[in-house]
Amino acid sequence: MKYQSTRRSCPTASLSQAIIDGLAPDGGLYVPAEMPMHDPVVFAGLTRIPDIAHRLLAPFFAGDRLAPMLEEICHDALDFPIPLRHLPDGRTAVLELFHGPTAAFKDVGARFLAACLSRIPEGQGQTILVATSGDTGAAIASAFHARPEIQVVILFPEGGVSQRQQHQLTCWGDNVRSLAVCGTFDDCQRMVKAAFGEPELKRRRRLTSANSISIGRLLPQTVYHAAATLWFSERKGSRPGLIVPTGNLGNALAALWAMRIGFPVGHVGLATNANKVVPEFLESGDYSPHPSVRTLANAMDVGDPSNMERVLHLYGTAPALRRDASALSVSDQTIEREIAAGPERWQSVWCPHTATAIHMRQQQQTPDWIVVATAHPAKFETIVEPLIGAPVPAPASLLALLERPSSFDRIDPTLDALRDCLATG
Ligand SMILES: *Cc1c(COP(=O)(O)O)cnc(C)c1O
Repeated sequence: MKYQSTRRSCPTASLSQAIIDGLAPDGGLYVPAEMPMHDPVVFAGLTRIPDIAHRLLAPFFAGDRLAPMLEEICHDALDFPIPLRHLPDGRTAVLELFHGPTAAFKDVGARFLAACLSRIPEGQGQTILVATSGDTGAAIASAFHARPEIQVVILFPEGGVSQRQQHQLTCWGDNVRSLAVCGTFDDCQRMVKAAFGEPELKRRRRLTSANSISIGRLLPQTVYHAAATLWFSERKGSRPGLIVPTGNLGNALAALWAMRIGFPVGHVGLATNANKVVPEFLESGDYSPHPSVRTLANAMDVGDPSNMERVLHLYGTAPALRRDASALSVSDQTIEREIAAGPERWQSVWCPHTATAIHMRQQQQTPDWIVVATAHPAKFETIVEPLIGAPVPAPASLLALLERPSSFDRIDPTLDALRDCLATG
């Protein structure tokens, strides 16, 4: 399998090369040169995520030097439970992606990327530069902290993440450095892009990306969408829709890929917060990015989703995308209402991101849906606990991180400030 840039103005790359590059040399994003087709029948009876991952991802690794290590990579990276929990209404299930070390779905992609990079010799000595709207940075830090041959520099918007999120971003030390940017997530993302746009800086620090543009993060995300629809359809005999809380469109793109390669995904719902560039695009056909606005579902506060370029590459136009997907923007007020109603209506406690998807599920006329739960509600306890009037017990792995001391540097939202930091660390 070769990987080509969405802009098609550079040569194709092997999977390992695409993982090392992050961004393609022409500024585009890597996508598989062709989409393999899977027959779901071949997956019948497989219940363990690493086994499904190994089979599903084999054609994406074919011919690459990582291919002989794929089985080991899947077991190394995907070593925590990803349960599909059926809800009392009998027509809805929740795919719980938050049982990894940092309690958000980003652990899947981050751990898989780390397992791949640490098995590529050129991965050693690289610096991963990552802008985070909250959960990515923690997942990347956690996945790479045990791999000291790779440096990690995290940029997060000061005041734009929850207290627990900030702690998870800043409790590492060693090969992980945390920078609090006086600005928004868009500023962080812009600074990272600008750094990658400087060939000298990129070469000297051997910069690579771990944002959701990384193909090494996207590929494993197709696995749980595929697995969940297989399990659901084995039990109910139907093709469920997937509703994905959406920010940079990485998780949603993986759901669209799972559909494209043959898994029983009936439809993909893109649930956004008040940042509604994707719903507007689906409605009007015009893609016009906005500055991001802050919401309760902060990991989705994105005004210009980085994977839009891949979605456009796959579909071309809004009418084509409308055949497979729809989108809904959900206000903070509605997020609060859904969280408050969760325990009684669904016997569940939702994080603010998952609450957008639960709301979208309730707007659907057709019966069978999988709601993708992207974070543990205990990560957002200051929002969730007052709304449900009860404490949310934190998972043990989260509590262990909260015990660690925290440290970070503050920087201005400019490339110069970032350059200075990279020169000294
Ligand atoms: C990152 C994140 C999202 C958005 O995922 P994208 O792949 O950026 O669309 C949703 N929910 C949570 C909890 C996240 O951390």
